[in-house]
This record gives sequence, structure tokens and C-alpha cells, in this order.
Amino acid sequence: MIVMKFGGTSVGSAERMQEVVQLVKQTATKSCPVVVLSAMSSVTNALIAGAKAAAAGNFNDALRQVDLIRAKHVEAINAISGGADLLSEIEERLAELVVTYKGIAAVGELSKRSLDAVSGMGELLSSAIVARIANAQGLRSQWLDARKFMITDDSFGRANPVWGELVPATREALMPLLEQGTVVFTQGFIGSTRKGVSTTLGRGGSDYSASIMGVAIDADEIQIWTDVDGMMTADPRVVKDARVISEVSFQEASELAYFGAKVLHPLTIKPAVEKKIPVRILNTFRPTEPGTLIKDTVVSDDIIRAVSSKKGITAIFISTPKMLMSYGFLAKVFAIFDRYQTSIDTIATSEISVALTIDQTESLNEIVRDLSEYGEVRIVHDVAIVSVVGRQYREKSGIAGRVFASLKDVNIVMISGGASDINLSFVVEGANADDAVRMLHGEFLSQGGQSNPLSFVIPSGSEESAARS
Ligand code: ASP
Ligand code: MG
Repeated sequence: MIVMKFGGTSVGSAERMQEVVQLVKQTATKSCPVVVLSAMSSVTNALIAGAKAAAAGNFNDALRQVDLIRAKHVEAINAISGGADLLSEIEERLAELVVTYKGIAAVGELSKRSLDAVSGMGELLSSAIVARIANAQGLRSQWLDARKFMITDDSFGRANPVWGELVPATREALMPLLEQGTVVFTQGFIGSTRKGVSTTLGRGGSDYSASIMGVAIDADEIQIWTDVDGMMTADPRVVKDARVISEVSFQEASELAYFGAKVLHPLTIKPAVEKKIPVRILNTFRPTEPGTLIKDTVVSDDIIRAVSSKKGITAIFISTPKMLMSYGFLAKVFAIFDRYQTSIDTIATSEISVALTIDQTESLNEIVRDLSEYGEVRIVHDVAIVSVVGRQYREKSGIAGRVFASLKDVNIVMISGGASDINLSFVVEGANADDAVRMLHGEFLSQGGQSNPLSFVIPSGSEESAARS
């Protein structure tokens, strides 16, 4: 059994959707896949923009977003044959959207719950069209509303799977169809609470949906079809001779996904690791490329596998003489971040100070206020975490030395390394991040300075990765 997930650019037009159906049909000759779809590119953004406009009292702007969304889907439907009744289905959903916008406008406030109800609509629309194309082409298939089985908690905007209920519900919904050879088309990104309230897994969360479903049905492979050739040694927009990495381990992929390689939603790997289900990243625009296979163990001689950077990070420095020779200080600091549900990405400590980085700043003011009780707090905005993912940092000597020696004229704000054997991370000023990545790639990964033989292309905007940034 295979889960095939297609991102927003992969379903960005009728033509792309037809291509998706071709790829699904090819797979269906061997096994019966579950197809997980994103919204058409830019639709989720438009849905959210409309909701914000409605909340701000600009109802006409909200309606303009509805028109944009309608136009995009109608164009796709008109380009396929036999979609007339789909037009009325789309209109029904858009009417529902307008009602929700009206509700938001009436209260003049956008709750996370309403935002989830709105932002998940794009997946329902896109999947209906793709399923119809498949049907028209004679593929034995069935459209399913993922909210019937993707049971989550009520952390709107970033809901978590409730495994105990999600697994049996998913199996019950999918297995009978798959067993009789019916391809299932469903949505990524969305779920619902036990009580049936719509939720989303967070921006770019369709990958995560695919891996959750893969785990629930015990899939043999989870395929993430996107708009790039795979995980790369560095961001090709920054490093000209960045290369696709053909195989990476779960551990390496998690570090990379979290620390800047936006090809995969960071949580995607998490469920797959436990069941050791391989995740394959493939390019819908170049389906014959081998992509990247993420699996349990990988053999490689490379000391450094990839360099990435994550920008828009905030560094927080807390220093206090009170910490000298005392205990319990870190626990108090962590408790504050816990209170505001803000996760810490990297950390470094000395006897009287702690430095750490976060990427969610919604509660920064409250965090600073609470931290100030314990010491002096200094904030540095717009820093970047540079991560050098490699292997055997502990076994091989001299790697860290080479890493830092290669960074000419880059001021290092903070160093955090050694917690994992495979990731050496440090923080630089945002403006230096690209240079740092280029210098490190040049030192460890460039092959004789020749340009990338794959002549890598990112389709316009590479919107899927934008959704994750
Ligand atoms: N459509 C959603 C987003 O743009 C989910 C996804 O594409 O993965 O964030
Ligand atoms: Mg998307």
C-alpha cells in the first residue's frame, strides 16, 4: 500500500491535475494508493486573506478573495470534460464560505476555530476536481472527506492527531475500499475533532496528513510529490551547485526539515519513524527523477550531508548572576516557554547565562516579561540558524574546526551543537546566513566547483515551500 501526496503546485491547474491522475494511474497498476491532496496553489492564502479582511470589516475584500478562488476552480473545471455538476458543488462550498465570512465580519474577530473552518476549504475543492478527472478516465476511485477519519484534538491552527481514535476510523474508512482495488482521493491538511468541528494541522500540513494516514493503514511507502527534485545538499536558490541527496536517514531528514530544508513539513517524519515506513520525495514536474528516499538507515561516506539555514529567528539571551552555582534556573526558564506553548529550537548555556532561539514570536512580550523576573533579557531579532547536518561529529575529530574555519567574516551570534551526533547548529545574523551556507557548502559539498548537472529548476514561486516558511 502506498500513500501519494500531491502539493499545491502539483494540483495548481487542470493540466497539473491531469498529470497527477496519470501518476496515480501508473501506481494503481501495481498497488492501490491513497491519494492525499493539497489545495490548489495560492488558494489557502486567499482563504485566509478573506477571513482576515472580513474580521477587519472589509467585507468587500473578503468577497474579492471568494471571486479569485471561484475563478481558479471554475477555470480548472472548464478545462476538463464532464465537470458541469462540479460547478454547482463548488458554488455550494463557496456559499458556505461566504456565510462563514459573514459570521466573522459580524463578530469582527477571527477565532482560530473559524480560521480553520475557512482555511481547510481549499483541499475540499481541489480534491473534488482531481477525483472527478480520475473518475472520468475510468479509474476505479472514491472521494472521501478526510474529516470523517482524521480525528484531531482541538488545538485549532495546529491540531494534533488523536491516534487512539484516528487509526481505527482511518482503517475503517480506507481499508475496505483499498482491499477491493478502489483508489481513494482525500485531503491533506484537514481533520476534525471528535465532535466534528473542522481543524487543520498547520500550514503546509498536507505532508503530515499523508504520513499520519500512511501509519494508520500500515503503508509500505509514503510518497510526497512536490515541486522540487528532493532534499538537497543546500537550498539551490542560495547554492548554485547544490545536489539532490538520494538517500537520507529519518534522523537526518528530521533535522533538515526542521532546520530549513522546506521541502518537507517538519512533522512528516515523526509518525513514519516509529513504523519505519520509508518516505520518498518526488517531483511531479519531473516524475522520472529518482528523488530522495528517507529511510531508517543510510550508508554514506560523506562527513557532511547538507547545509541549511532557517531565517526569521529570534534569539533570547538571559543572564543573571543569581544563576551562579544555583540549580533550578533552567527549569524556571523552560517553564515560561512551556506556559506560552513556544518551542525552543536551539540553546546554549554558560554558568550565568542562557541563550536560546525561537521561531514563534506570538507570545514574545509575555515571555520577556516573565523572564525578566529572573535576570537581564536581551533580544536579537532576525537571526538565522545555520545547520550543518553530517555524521559522526563525535567520532571524527576536526570537523567543527573545519566548519568554523570556513566561515570567513561571519559573526557567530551563538553556537549550539553536540546534542545530536548529526547536527551542528549555530546562529548568525540573518543577513549573513546565505553567505555562511555557501561557504560551508563550498568547503564540504561542492564537487570541483562545477554547476549542478541536473540544472535544477524551481517552478514559479515554489509556493509549497513558501507555505512552510
Ligand atoms: N494547503 C495548505 C497550505 O497551503 C496545506 C498544504 O498545502 O500542505 O498550507
Ligand atoms: Mg500548499
